[in-house]
Amino acid sequence: MASRGGACKEMFMAHVTVSDYDLSNETMDLEGRLCKPKKVTFALGVKPRVLSTKGVLDLFQCPVCSCSMYPPILQCPNGHTLCSKCKSRVNNRCPSCRHEINNIRCLALEKIAQSLDFPCSYQSQGCHEIFPYHDRLRHEHQCKFRPYNCPYAGSECSVTGDISTLMVHLTNDHKVDLHVGCTFNHRYVKSNPLEVQNATWMLTVFSCFDKHFCLHFEASQLGNEPVYMAFLQFMGEEDEAKDFSYDLEVGGNRRKLTWQGIPRSIRDSHRRVRDSHDGLLIPRNLALFFSGGDQQELKLRVMGRIWKET
Ligand SMILES: [Zn+2]
Ligand SMILES: [Zn+2]
Ligand SMILES: [Zn+2]
Ligand SMILES: [Zn+2]
Repeated sequence: MASRGGACKEMFMAHVTVSDYDLSNETMDLEGRLCKPKKVTFALGVKPRVLSTKGVLDLFQCPVCSCSMYPPILQCPNGHTLCSKCKSRVNNRCPSCRHEINNIRCLALEKIAQSLDFPCSYQSQGCHEIFPYHDRLRHEHQCKFRPYNCPYAGSECSVTGDISTLMVHLTNDHKVDLHVGCTFNHRYVKSNPLEVQNATWMLTVFSCFDKHFCLHFEASQLGNEPVYMAFLQFMGEEDEAKDFSYDLEVGGNRRKLTWQGIPRSIRDSHRRVRDSHDGLLIPRNLALFFSGGDQQELKLRVMGRIWKET
């Protein structure tokens, strides 16, 4: 039987402080309804901890930003709670009753939080871990189910999501080239290459081994030297990225440069990978030799392969 109403929850929370708590116990709430206790988790040798129920979780949700509230949790004179970050957002006025919010903390709620276990915020994305209040925040910064940032460089794109969401977004909104297969052979052509400074060029997405990889190709600067850089990013976690290798070969006009590397996770920003020079760097003068002709046009052939390390 599901518990309804606050009284039932309060009874339950009071109940679990008894030391020899019996998991099969049922309690009666104040109106005589039968309450089955929710899941209870025990840390070894430590006092029993309580996994928060949906209703209790709601108590810790800021009514303004919908995030979990962490101390200092503030309250208005009527007891409505709010996270400290949102206080200035609402001009120090309680969003529920319009009373002024001073720095009155809700110590009771802060205290209760310390005895509760919370599921990770990315539960609906697939994370089933539960944590004591403060550990949860630490976990969520590292949780592998947290959303990824859009890997498209050169735009101030703020879209986040899981890999399949980002794939739809990259195709529909950034119109990226999508290729199926683990080898590629691309030509990058640019007229007036001397005008290109720090311009981001191209993102191509490859799908192979049931995974997705982003090939970046762009103009950059190495010290004072204009360079082109190509590198691959893995759309997934760093530890999985390490299962793959890739090589790149760029050239033309009977010259070539090759590079072999490990794709970097898109958890690392495009800028961070670029600035670490973890990819194929082609000085612009060399790139123009590759292009042949009168060096007024950049014509590069980039070939590559992605494979899985066994
Ligand atoms: Zn808030
Ligand atoms: Zn209020
Ligand atoms: Zn998680
Ligand atoms: Zn984007």
